[in-house]
Amino acid sequence: MIGAQSLTSKADTPQERARSIMGRLVDLGARYDAAPVFPIESLKLLQGADLHRTFAPQDAGGEVFADRQTQYDCMLSLLRIIGRADLSVGRLYEGHVNAMLLFEWFGTDAQKDVLRRALMSGAFYGVWATEPSPGVQLRESGAGWTLDGVKSFATGAGGLASAIITAQPGKGSRRLVIARADDENRTDLSQWRVRGMRATGSGQYDLGGMNVSVDDLLGEAGDYDRDPDFTTGAWRFTAVQLGGIEALLTETRAAMSSATRENSLQRAKFADAVAATRTAYLWVRECACRAAKSDPDGPAFARMTRGIVERAALDVMELASRIIGTRSAVDGQRIDKIIRDLSLYLRQAGPDYAKDQAALAWLDHDVWADGDALW
Ligand SMILES: Cc1cc2nc3c(=O)[nH]c(=O)nc-3n(C[C@H](O)[C@H](O)[C@H](O)COP(=O)(O)OP(=O)(O)OC[C@H]3O[C@@H](n4cnc5c(N)ncnc54)[C@H](O)[C@@H]3O)c2cc1C
Repeated sequence: MIGAQSLTSKADTPQERARSIMGRLVDLGARYDAAPVFPIESLKLLQGADLHRTFAPQDAGGEVFADRQTQYDCMLSLLRIIGRADLSVGRLYEGHVNAMLLFEWFGTDAQKDVLRRALMSGAFYGVWATEPSPGVQLRESGAGWTLDGVKSFATGAGGLASAIITAQPGKGSRRLVIARADDENRTDLSQWRVRGMRATGSGQYDLGGMNVSVDDLLGEAGDYDRDPDFTTGAWRFTAVQLGGIEALLTETRAAMSSATRENSLQRAKFADAVAATRTAYLWVRECACRAAKSDPDGPAFARMTRGIVERAALDVMELASRIIGTRSAVDGQRIDKIIRDLSLYLRQAGPDYAKDQAALAWLDHDVWADGDALW
């Protein structure tokens, strides 16, 4: 866990606090990219700005929002701002936010109390669902249960205090289990040799033999997979990815020399990059609104948004490289780091399936609709 310290004052907002630490997150991000270890200093900054509690349940020290839309507007801003600074830390923060929402939706009073104390001492959480076959099993043993199996792509493995993991019981749907995530002996980062997102340390974590009591079970069987909130929740990683695209556009503009700016061919590329970035923004913003309302069409909307953000990111990466040239690929350049991080972070589960499901939904009815249906 990270030692408690606070930079907060009652006058400021989470967004202002996030902006105030952006520059330091950028500098630290470059350091952790060059020598990848769990980015403890970056998380200390988030914790010092009290951003680790913002989306926690109110009983656990979370921010009081006027309503869910206001909460999600703030979430969208923070995910973008932190993603702009460093996509690895954005991914860690997104996992933590996801965990806070799961506690809010499914946590008991006792679990929220444990969470409150953990957050006071600076704990960060993850959510680990991805796993190699046959997946993590939850086996009955004595008065409780024991886990068996391994998680892969486990962001923050060995560095986070805890993770909410999915586990399959003998009968019924999968369950959520709150598990310690900081055991070095269970952590295997040997395969996490990647071109980007290095500081996420998304390696493997072996849960074998870990005891689970009833207090460690979060919600009921099948709760994690409940739609629309489960599938629509993909909007959060698109918001972090959007932050990366926005940072890339900003860096590209800054790197454009006077000669480049005076050239209409280069300006046309820049215009395309602006349009792609803002298109992604409009879809992610709309998707966050759908998520806040638990819109039944949220899953189709989020699946479409994933593809739009992916396309925008691929376009802006290409345009940035063509506008800036070889400088965009030089080690130590921020543009190079953002492109490497983004190109890996875009790889999320089942992209073709997601787009196909979105197309099926749109063929059925105009999912955008909102009083403006085209068919
Ligand atoms: C930086 C990073 C951090 C992550 N952190 C976490 C984490 O903390 N917790 C967590 O649970 N997960 C995490 N993940 C995992 C993530 O959620 C995805 O599971 C993972 O990225 C899938 O990547 P993939 O490209 O191998 O996807 P795949 O789904 O395997 O897609 C690869 C390709 O295969 C195709 N494909 C997939 N399935 C089929 C099929 N049935 N038939 C035909 N084609 C198919 C796809 O269309 C695509 O073209 C992380 C991933 C990254 C990159």
